[in-house]
Amino acid sequence: MSIIDIPVEDVENFRNELASIDRDGSRKWIYARQPKGQYYTARTIVATILLIFLFAGPHIYVNGHPFMLLNLPERMFIVFGIPFMPQDFHLVVLLALSALVSVALFTAIAGRIWCGWMCPQTIFLEMVFRRIEWFIEGSPKEQAILNAGRWTQKKILKKSVKHIIFFGISFAIANTFLAYIIGRDELLKIQLDDPMNHLSGLGIITLFSFVFYAVFARFREQACLIACPYGRYQSVLVDKNTIAVTYDFVRGEPRGKQKNNNVGDVQTIKGDCIDCHQCVVVCPTGIDIRNGIQLECVNCTACIDACDHVMTKVGSPKGLIRYTSWEAVKNGTANIFTGRIKAYLAVWIILLSIVAFMFSKRTETETLILRQPGTTFIKQGNDAIGNFFNVMITNKTFGNKEINIKVLSPNTATMRPLGSFTPVKEFTTLESRILVSIPKESATSGKTMIQFGIYSHGTLLETVQSAFIAP
Ligand code: SF4
Ligand code: SF4
Repeated sequence: MSIIDIPVEDVENFRNELASIDRDGSRKWIYARQPKGQYYTARTIVATILLIFLFAGPHIYVNGHPFMLLNLPERMFIVFGIPFMPQDFHLVVLLALSALVSVALFTAIAGRIWCGWMCPQTIFLEMVFRRIEWFIEGSPKEQAILNAGRWTQKKILKKSVKHIIFFGISFAIANTFLAYIIGRDELLKIQLDDPMNHLSGLGIITLFSFVFYAVFARFREQACLIACPYGRYQSVLVDKNTIAVTYDFVRGEPRGKQKNNNVGDVQTIKGDCIDCHQCVVVCPTGIDIRNGIQLECVNCTACIDACDHVMTKVGSPKGLIRYTSWEAVKNGTANIFTGRIKAYLAVWIILLSIVAFMFSKRTETETLILRQPGTTFIKQGNDAIGNFFNVMITNKTFGNKEINIKVLSPNTATMRPLGSFTPVKEFTTLESRILVSIPKESATSGKTMIQFGIYSHGTLLETVQSAFIAP
């Protein structure tokens, strides 16, 4: 049974059942009608920009380097042209934490705005795959008839064309995601070279092409309902002050075909909702928004457009379904900045300040100088004490770096390189050794902290401390 066949009374069972799952647990296919209206147009524009950015991303190079690269296997990341290495892991953790708090904050304020406008799942499903389906198979009613009908030549042709296009797009998505991971040039090698040399790469592309195809051709809205953890998580973040796609039940109820309806001697006043179900037939998750905020609502705004169209037709003001909060509908005013939002905001600002501070302190190199394991000190004749140190210099920038190390304190200490420090190639770590000597008379018994300066072309990049041992 499809959603367009569901009797009205069954829709009232929304608290007990998912609109897309039948009572016997089997899948109920959602045939959503294509929305038309200002929100759909705006979402189309946003989706187009995001899709261009997604597909062009791996091909944008700045000064010979990718603008975006998330190379997990080689632990090399370039985000908006800024290179990151495993040494920046603390920043990644802080950024992940900030992202988590941002999601909590924005969900508490504006519900699943991410799902409706930015999520790749919604964008691909609603703006790409479903549009192709409408184009090839027609309206929801025509699709339902086609699916229920026997396999004619026309049906085979339509289904074949649709699924070939679906798989082609899934293949393009899989290639794009791989390009973000291994880079455009490596992907080109896989595509153009002898396939026998790239069996694992080709295997990954094929596997993910089938995964994307299965998600967009079959799994669809179930990804938002049962697979996406954010969908579950949002229900504990929203409250009656959250702004979301909401039905104005004060204005809309009691719903019915006529505004004024004489029943015997009693005149019943109807609300603005004419109970036309247009908001339901456009819903990609098959729900009735008039039942209130529900787990399945991805805030796609399709029902706003559908209802606005109906309201215009019947001569009532638009906005019976709109972005607002339950509290605003019920009492006319809403308090967006509740105590909870203020608390989230405070944590968010603190986290972002820490991230900004850490970024400002981020150095072009990261150097570790540690006394050579298994050694303490050596006597250098009768005049000086020496310690061996291992040096590890990581170059976190594009381009090789000429490095020079100096001892900054104590000023009696001298240093002799026991290997080369330079150049340190881009995104690599160079390992070497040094011998630090301190005159016997100024060497303090036990530990003395040595401060090193790491220079490149006379510019101090960072300072590093290490412990010197004397008898
Ligand atoms: S589209 Fe608007 S008028 Fe029609 S049922 Fe939905 S809320 Fe009521
Ligand atoms: S209820 Fe409205 S906003 Fe929510 S998923 Fe359905 S159509 Fe989209």
